[in-house]
This record gives sequence, structure tokens and C-alpha cells, in this order.
Amino acid sequence: MKKLSIIVPIYNEEKNVILIHKALSEVAKQLVNYDFEFIFVNDGSKDNSWETIKQEALNDKRIVAIDFSRNFGKEFALTAGVQNCTGDAAIFLDADLQHPPALIPEFVKKWERGAEVVAGIRKTTKKKTLIKDAGSRLFYALMRRFSRNVLTRNSTDFKLIDRKVINELVRFTEHNRLFRGLIEWMGFKTETIEFVAPERVNGVATYSLRKLFSLAINSLTSFSLFPLKLAGYLGVLITLVSFVLLCVMIVFKFVLHSLIFSSISYVIVTNTFVLGVVLMALGIMALYIGQIHAEVIGRPLYVIREKIAK
Ligand code: UDP
Ligand code: MG
Repeated sequence: MKKLSIIVPIYNEEKNVILIHKALSEVAKQLVNYDFEFIFVNDGSKDNSWETIKQEALNDKRIVAIDFSRNFGKEFALTAGVQNCTGDAAIFLDADLQHPPALIPEFVKKWERGAEVVAGIRKTTKKKTLIKDAGSRLFYALMRRFSRNVLTRNSTDFKLIDRKVINELVRFTEHNRLFRGLIEWMGFKTETIEFVAPERVNGVATYSLRKLFSLAINSLTSFSLFPLKLAGYLGVLITLVSFVLLCVMIVFKFVLHSLIFSSISYVIVTNTFVLGVVLMALGIMALYIGQIHAEVIGRPLYVIREKIAK
């Protein structure tokens, strides 16, 4: 029998643990032809989530419970789940029931038909604040524009990944990680399922604006060198403009013998020119840092789907 690992990151979800466990058990009843393991990763919750998980685990052998020593963040909770899962496929699911467990059979069906990644795409979230919405738009636009790997807008962590993908995913050693970014970067055969995210059931979304912002900055910098190169581009622009301006001024002074430019303006423009050169040098440094960055994050050089050898 094939085995499915359901991975649930949990941070301050004491009320939801029981609900999600119940919902998952329902799904398991529908999918009688599969073995299940429910991996609950407690990401340093400050409430009674861990006690609740342990309590649930007493009556259910399918539960694998992992307790972090402190809050490390969802991406790392998911990572721990992947590293500890034994299934033929893994499914990531939020604990707050915003990723409807009832859709799991559909994910499995697509997987059985050959998809290696089944990605949940969020249709609409009601009640998304204006700022969060504008922020996510900006983030995806920047990612699309400046990063070689394209992050699908409205993509979520609600995903199923095949064992092949799991085996590759555990090879990633980078610390700054956006899970869905990594999975999309690998580029396996992907099918999508659209879903409507309902309101979170209990508690509040813990991804504050500040956390989301830093997640966005981290993702941009780990997938793109553009922010680094910006200084260089700016330098080129400033150098060119001030060089042209300087030439014009010199012509005015020495050829036309005009005095429309005061002597201080020569100093200023020369200064700006030098500043441009310095910024350009920064941009060049960015190229080297980029090389170092690529070496340090140590991404796998390639990802193999299948190997056949006699
Ligand atoms: N979560 C986590 N660690 C954190 C923050 C959140 O494991 O530091 C979990 C949380 O318990 C939930 C999922 O990640 O299962 C999504 O969190 P949340 O609902 O707060 O985010 P949103 O729905 O706004 O994306
Ligand atoms: Mg949520």
C-alpha cells in the first residue's frame, strides 16, 4: 500500500490541532487504499498546542509529533516535516483549516495520474487587507521581473509532492528558504488545483506584516541578484549624465567663453561624476558577491527526475 505523509506546521493552534486531526482522519477514511502518517510539527507554540498534539498522538499511531525548541518559522517546520516523512508522497497543509483537507483526495488523484507536484492555487481570500494585497502584488511582480525562477502568484504551501521531489528537496542546504519557491525552482511535472481559502478557524494569523515583509525580502534576495546590481546601474546612469553635463559645461566655458555656469557648479558636477564611478564599482562588487552568494547557498546543480542504468 502506498503511504501519504501529511505535514502540518503548528504555531499557537491549540484549538485547531484537534479539528485538523479530525478532518485528516475523515480523509483517511475516504482513502482506504493508502497508509497515512500525520506529521505535526510544533514550531515553538506558546500555548498548549504541544500538549494537545501529544494527547492526540496517544490515540492515533499515525501521528508523528515533532516539537521545536523555539519558534523557527513555518518554512523550517515544513523542512523538518519533509526530512522526517516516510511516505510515497507528502502533502503540506496549514493547521488553521485554510487549506481544506477535503481536497486531499483530488490532490492524490492528480498525483496518481502522473503529476509529481500538485500545487494548490488560492482563488480568493476574503478579507485581505489593502496593504497585504498591495504587498503581495508588488512581491510577485518583483519576483517575476527580476528572478529567473518564476513564482506563481497566489501559489500557496498547500502542495503534494512525490517521493522523487522529497528526495531532492532534502538536499537543499540553504538557510534562507521559501518552500514554494524551492519546489517551483526544481520544476517537476506540476498540476494545479484551485481552492478558496476560508477564514481561519481559531486564533489569529501569525504572519504579521513585519514577518511577511522580511519573508518577501529574504525570498527576493535568495532568488535574485537584482537589488545588488541596482547600485551599479545607478552608478552607470549618474556617471553618464554627469559626464555629458561636464562636457557641455567645458564647452560653454572654454569654447563659448560663457559664464552661465558658476564655478561651484563645476565642483558639484565633478563630484557627482566621481560618485557615479564609486557606485559603479559597487555594482561590480555585486557581481562578485553574487558569485559568492551562489556558491554559499549551495543549491544542487541539477535535479534528476529518473535514472535508468543496466
Ligand atoms: N506557522 C508556523 N510557524 C510560524 C507561523 C505560522 O508553523 O512561525 C504555521 C501556522 O500554525 C499555520 C501556518 O503556518 O499552520 C500558516 O500560518 P498563518 O495561518 O498564520 O498564515 P497565513 O494563513 O496568513 O498564511
Ligand atoms: Mg492561515
